[in-house]
Amino acid sequence: MPAQTIIFEPDDKYNAFLKVCNKPSHTNGKLAGITVAVKDNISTQGIETTCASKILKGYVPPYDAHVVGLLKQAGAAIAGKTNMDEFGMGTTTENSAFGPTLNPCDTGRVPGGSSGGSAAAVAAGMVRMALGTDTGGSIRCPAAFCGIVGLKPTYGRVSRYGLIAYANSLEQIGPMGKTVSDVSTLMSVIAGYDRHDSTSQNKPYDHIPRADIKGLKIGIPAEYFGKGVDPQVAAVVKKAIGRLEELGASTVLCSIPSMEYALAAYYVTCTCEASSNLARFDGVRYGPAADTKKSWHDAYQEVRSAAFGTEVRRRIMLGTFALSSGYYGKYYTKAQVARENVRNDFQRIFSDVDVIAGPTMPTIAFRLKEKSDPLSMYLADILTVPANLAGIPAISVPCGKSEGMPVGLQIMGRHFEDERVIDVAYAYE
Ligand code: GLN
Repeated sequence: MPAQTIIFEPDDKYNAFLKVCNKPSHTNGKLAGITVAVKDNISTQGIETTCASKILKGYVPPYDAHVVGLLKQAGAAIAGKTNMDEFGMGTTTENSAFGPTLNPCDTGRVPGGSSGGSAAAVAAGMVRMALGTDTGGSIRCPAAFCGIVGLKPTYGRVSRYGLIAYANSLEQIGPMGKTVSDVSTLMSVIAGYDRHDSTSQNKPYDHIPRADIKGLKIGIPAEYFGKGVDPQVAAVVKKAIGRLEELGASTVLCSIPSMEYALAAYYVTCTCEASSNLARFDGVRYGPAADTKKSWHDAYQEVRSAAFGTEVRRRIMLGTFALSSGYYGKYYTKAQVARENVRNDFQRIFSDVDVIAGPTMPTIAFRLKEKSDPLSMYLADILTVPANLAGIPAISVPCGKSEGMPVGLQIMGRHFEDERVIDVAYAYE
């Protein structure tokens, strides 16, 4: 495979990139000559990887994440590392230690998060495709806010080896692009078995999108059009679903009663997992060197207080509290019961319908600093977290505008039916 260097000089008005690199592409392979941006929580050998956190400033991974190796094999040119909410914790990309990313559709608004840099880079045409990660909507939300396509694959379909973990049981790496075809092509490169990830499944994705959805049955959950969902956004999405009906699909109303507890179950689970995952950033194994003359407790506290941002510290404290003795049963165990109920609700609905459709986000992109109250930011994740709790595939595809800003149509499918959600999105597009 002869190498070819793609000179990549993005006009990054949006602070989408934390690092730009000119990695050679190859002249053959599925992604030959194509620029792909990689979210900065995915390890890249020899290229600084920070998770947009001061604690990892200067960290250069000694190995590639499995997906990055696959990109290289497919001939892609890795264009750089994209901005994000620190460790993936956020819905706006404002929680980056290196400044927020701006939405290319309106620079007074956020691009969504946490994969906001990846979405902005694609939306602004700086790269053709990007990798994001989705723990609780972080691919679909920025895709919806920036008017691009983003897929959260079925849990286990894409290897997480080399992804710096935030909440392992919820997250997946996934493709982002301007079109469903591009997302499908990138998915075909990154999906498949990897022995380094114990949750990896042997389900490669080798699919060419098909636009035929005649006879398809779509479930429309009442909760996706209820309280908290902006009526204008709901109207745009309803119109999009009407278009799917014109293309030959039928719709039935359904309900996900467990959604009442989904957000709480998500935030308890992700903070618990984060508090454990982030313990390794201690100034000894990772992070700025701790003062060894101090006691371990003092040194640990000093490094972590200085180098973690407010949201990360908040979540570590919440998770540590929820896992502490005496409270574990009250919070963590209960969250797992609620999670099981979400899974069961989806299973019940999918015994009758092929896919479920609704809005990706309850509103259009927020204005910068609009969500400075953490609770109001958490509430914005209500429509995306159910798919992570259940581990099912979900895609966001642009379906129109409200107040001049893009709106995303979300299609969710059965486990390992990523092909079907891609086909529905492709038919719509
Ligand atoms: N908004 C969610 C959170 O803050 C999104 C996380 C994600 O998908 N990385 O946890």
